[in-house]
Order: sequence, then C-alpha cells, then structure tokens
Amino acid sequence: MKNYDLLIVGAGPVGLYAGFYAGMRGLSVALIETSAVAGGQPQALYPEKLIYDIAGLPAISGTDLTKNLLEQLARIPHEIFLNQRVEKIDSSVKNSGQQIFSVKTNKNRYQSKAILLTTGAGLISPRKIGISYEEELEQAGKLSYFITSIEDYRNQKIAVLGGGDSALDWALTLENVASEVHLIHRRKAFRAHEMTAELLNDSTVKIHVPYTVSAMNDKEITIKSIPQRNETPQSEEKLTFPIDKILVNYGFLTEQVTLIDQLSLTRNGKITVNSQMQSNLAGVYGAGDTIDYLGKVPLLSVGFGEAVAAINAMTKTINFEHNLRKGHSSTVFG
Ligand SMILES: Cc1cc2nc3c(=O)[nH]c(=O)nc-3n(C[C@H](O)[C@H](O)[C@H](O)COP(=O)(O)OP(=O)(O)OC[C@H]3O[C@@H](n4cnc5c(N)ncnc54)[C@H](O)[C@@H]3O)c2cc1C
Repeated sequence: MKNYDLLIVGAGPVGLYAGFYAGMRGLSVALIETSAVAGGQPQALYPEKLIYDIAGLPAISGTDLTKNLLEQLARIPHEIFLNQRVEKIDSSVKNSGQQIFSVKTNKNRYQSKAILLTTGAGLISPRKIGISYEEELEQAGKLSYFITSIEDYRNQKIAVLGGGDSALDWALTLENVASEVHLIHRRKAFRAHEMTAELLNDSTVKIHVPYTVSAMNDKEITIKSIPQRNETPQSEEKLTFPIDKILVNYGFLTEQVTLIDQLSLTRNGKITVNSQMQSNLAGVYGAGDTIDYLGKVPLLSVGFGEAVAAINAMTKTINFEHNLRKGHSSTVFG
C-alpha cells in the first residue's frame, strides 16, 4: 500500500495549493480527486468567469487559475489520483506510537501520517430542469449546466434558464458572441446584484419573466407563463421559438459525505477546526469551503491561507526538527 506523509482529499484550488505548500515543506504528498479534472468549483462551475479578488492576480479565469495552480504544484514531487472518490478514512496507532491513516477510495487504498480535507462544496452535480429530452439534449451537446468554451456559443441562438447572478452573468457574456440570447426566469424579480440586473435591462438579451420551460427539442423551446397570485385573469400564455443551445443555471446540488467517524461537524455539515485548521481528531486537518469557524469567509484567498496554516501546523508534528522560520519560498526555491 502506498504510504505518504500527507494525503489531501479533494484537488480543488485549495487542495492544489496545499499540495504545493506541503511539498515545499518537505512532506511527501498525494492528492485524491473524484473528478476527471482537478480544479474544483472554478474549473467545473465557472471556468471562463473572471475572478478579481485574489491578491496579486487582478483578473483570472477559473481555467487559468487551475492551470497556474497545477504549474505551481508541478514544482514539487507529488502524486495526483484523479477519478477516485474517497469513501472512508480510518486511523490506527502503530507500536511506535505513530498515527497512521488508511484511506479507501472506490479504486484503491493509501496510507498517510496526516490527512488534509479540502473537499469544498463536496461532490457537485447540477440541479436539473426535470422535463423530457433533458438527458438526450445534454448528450447531443445542445444543453449544458456550465460553459467550458464560449466559442461553442458563437452565432448561436441561446436560451439561458435561471434568475441568479450566474444566469444573468452568462446571459450578458453570451450576448457578445451569440446571435440571440433569451433569459427565462420563473419570477419577475432576479436574485442577482442590482448592477447586473440593470446591465441586463440595458442589453439586447430578450427577457421572459415570469416564465418556465414546458417543452424542448433540438430545434426549439416552448415556455409558459406562470400566473401570479392576485393577478386576473389567471391565464397561461405559451411561446415557442427556435433555439440552438440551452444553458441551465438552476444551481448545483452538493453531496457532503462524512469520511471519518467521530469528526466534529457543524449543523451544515462543515468540519469544525481550531486556529491551526486541525479538526477534533489529531492528524486530521481541513481547509477551504469544507471547514467552518467563527468568522469563516468561503473565498479562495482565505482558503489558500488556511492551507498554509494547516500545512505549517502538521509539518511540526510530522517532523519535529523542521525549522519553519527558514521556510520562505524565495529561499527554498531561490
Ligand atoms: C459561480 C461562483 C463564483 C465564485 N467566485 C468567486 C470569486 O470571485 N472569488 C472567490 O474568492 N471565490 C469565488 N467563489 C468561491 C470559490 O470557488 C470557492 O471558495 C473555492 O472553490 C473553494 O475551494 P475548495 O478547494 O475549498 O473547494 P472546491 O472548489 O469545492 O473543490 C473541492 C474538490 O474536492 C473534490 N471532492 C469532494 N469530495 C471528494 C471525495 N470524497 N473524494 C475525492 N474528491 C472529492 C471535489 O470534486 C472538488 O474538486 C465562487 C464560487 C462560485 C460557485
């Protein structure tokens, strides 16, 4: 069985950065990721959206952030196991007193001296529309839940479904490349920033509210109005128009799986940690969106900082001799 100082569960942005940092601290490290690609939410949910609030990076897309994190990780020796879902983690203590974690995935088993949980939002799956042909259209590449390449939408007639920030942002972005963009939302009001809603009103996006999809095929979409309470007559109006692609923005469902017995969790299923990012279990640390503490902010820059705190704390317990003061990256790699 392969043995490491540290196993990181989840190769989202925080896990990837933690992997690099652990290598810089001299730990042998492996990352395990359930998806076929690393990068977590920025890569899967908003690859082409720009992120503006990471220190030193004025604007970077989800895809480019992932690329950069992988490049940074490549600087240190590591292993990364994609397409493997961690199912269970057990711990035992050797005769020497050394704690050992045994990590079981759907394909393999690994061992380590410490665990870092960076499982973020958990296993992510999109919320579906729930009507006929959804799966067929998805398989034919005519319906999707997130955009991987804007170019696929060039000169196309697009229906964007949803009324949150993501739906409005995509409608406005697609307006620049598509031949026609329709935004369909079941309520009159949007759940988006006021400024984005104002931009939408000034755009060429055709807004259909309060409407919902009643039928679709590979050529057209039919939407029906949702009668509002207190409105008379309570009639239902139907509209059918040609469409090339549908982008569904109904949000995502996340599944948090408890991987270790007796791990202390909040009511929302987040891991409670102390100021060193250690859970209630010795040797088990957390960082990023999967953890909670007083004042926690679920943002990338905060998650990166938590990864640093966790790795520095565990380095001292794995290697008592380590002098963290000599650990500036400019010196280590200089
Ligand atoms: C639309 C949108 C826009 C955003 N914009 C910003 C922004 O502008 N600035 C900002 O700072 N933040 C932003 N965020 C938040 C940011 O994306 C998250 O804070 C960040 O992704 C958290 O990173 P993470 O690595 O902790 O978790 P995640 O990105 O959720 O990654 C967790 C990884 O763990 C994997 N995983 C989970 N369970 C298992 C398991 N059992 N076995 C193996 N692998 C597992 C998942 O597949 C995933 O790859 C945005 C989020 C969204 C949805």
